[in-house]
Amino acid sequence: MNFDLTPEQDQLRDAVRALGRKYGHGYFVEKAKAGAHTTELWQEAGRLGYLGVNIPTEYGGGGGGITELAIVCEELAAAGCPLLLLVVSPAIAATVINKHGTDEQRKRHLPGLADGSQKIVFAITEPEAGSNFHRLGTVARRDGDDWLLTGRKCYISGVDEAGHVLVVARTEDASTGKLKPALFIVPTDAPGLERSKLDMEILSPENQFLLYLDDVRLPADALVGESLDAGLPALFSGLNPERITIAAMGAGTGRYAIERASGYTATRTVWGGKSIGSHQGVAHPLAHAAVQVELARLMIHKAATLYDAGRDLEAGVAGNMAKYAAGEAAALAVDTAVQALGGAGMTTEYGVATLLGAVRAGRIAPVSREMILNFVAQHVLGQDKSY
Ligand SMILES: Cc1cc2nc3c(=O)[nH]c(=O)nc-3n(C[C@H](O)[C@H](O)[C@H](O)COP(=O)(O)OP(=O)(O)OC[C@H]3O[C@@H](n4cnc5c(N)ncnc54)[C@H](O)[C@@H]3O)c2cc1C
Repeated sequence: MNFDLTPEQDQLRDAVRALGRKYGHGYFVEKAKAGAHTTELWQEAGRLGYLGVNIPTEYGGGGGGITELAIVCEELAAAGCPLLLLVVSPAIAATVINKHGTDEQRKRHLPGLADGSQKIVFAITEPEAGSNFHRLGTVARRDGDDWLLTGRKCYISGVDEAGHVLVVARTEDASTGKLKPALFIVPTDAPGLERSKLDMEILSPENQFLLYLDDVRLPADALVGESLDAGLPALFSGLNPERITIAAMGAGTGRYAIERASGYTATRTVWGGKSIGSHQGVAHPLAHAAVQVELARLMIHKAATLYDAGRDLEAGVAGNMAKYAAGEAAALAVDTAVQALGGAGMTTEYGVATLLGAVRAGRIAPVSREMILNFVAQHVLGQDKSY
């Protein structure tokens, strides 16, 4: 059992940490409040190769794995810059296209994803289906060689920043007549694709959208992979990277909050000469949150290691557990940090309450804590499926 990062991974962590600190949470909040994006940070991370760490070198990436991308997600979040689009673009879209796309799709999209000049966001959630992906109603029909996509998607992050959206639709299987999933790379300016921004109570420079697809016409090569058979494995291939990187972002956010709070409580005095952190009522909740974050980090490391070793099924269990643990730990850490900071915790200046919405959302998306508990109950504990 090895708990150490390689020297290269250590260097990556230090370098990403330095980049994150150069921008910091103040920058993240300023952009969010202005309705702007963290473009400078994204572009610099792209130039430095951090956005493409998991993309093969032949496409301009770093040739690493999800372990490396999780380091990038965690360290930027630990500097107060949790970038959700790292999860949808390099983690989900790049993995799906690299593993299941055609040669032509890899050549067309991976270099831009690697250097950050291109973003591809991910659209699976639908208003009627919610957590039940078996109910997806977005349908792709053949029209000659073309495809026509019709349906609705909700909460889709980053559509305004992306050139393409990877849309999960359903197609009719000619052999069985049943609908089966298929993924399409859809230009965000395609005729028939409309979007409207959702008002969310999350302070973030990244936005969520409703998407309306009304007979969006796509060429045959918009379908991910050589045939419809690629659909299901392509969809599943995005799940582990998604779980692991969102977990890393949660752990980083938890670290950030605890660091902000413990720096404050170690020096703030209101009862004579002793710091408020000397009171166990203040220190223990922070220590408890630190333990939860560290446990989550351990599971993230395990999940990423299993995934990069090609042990997908085991990585699925570990990745779900890591996502659950990190989601809970991040929410606990931010809430605890706000409390320890007192009134300062609610100020913009101390930069902790600004994360309350994001960590709350992290217990719901991209997969809710309840759906993970369902997964663990069924696949680890052998319980009957309840739904
Ligand atoms: C900030 C944010 C960003 C997002 N970005 C994206 C994106 O980029 N792309 C995308 O496709 N989606 C995105 N989503 C959507 C997200 O994946 C969904 O919100 C999530 O999967 C839950 O679906 P739902 O909101 O429809 O909840 P519902 O399915 O309606 O569930 C509501 C509640 O009921 C619980 N529940 C439902 N079924 C069960 C069950 N069988 N057992 C126990 N509990 C159950 C859920 O856990 C949840 O707590 C985003 C969401 C948010 C908040």
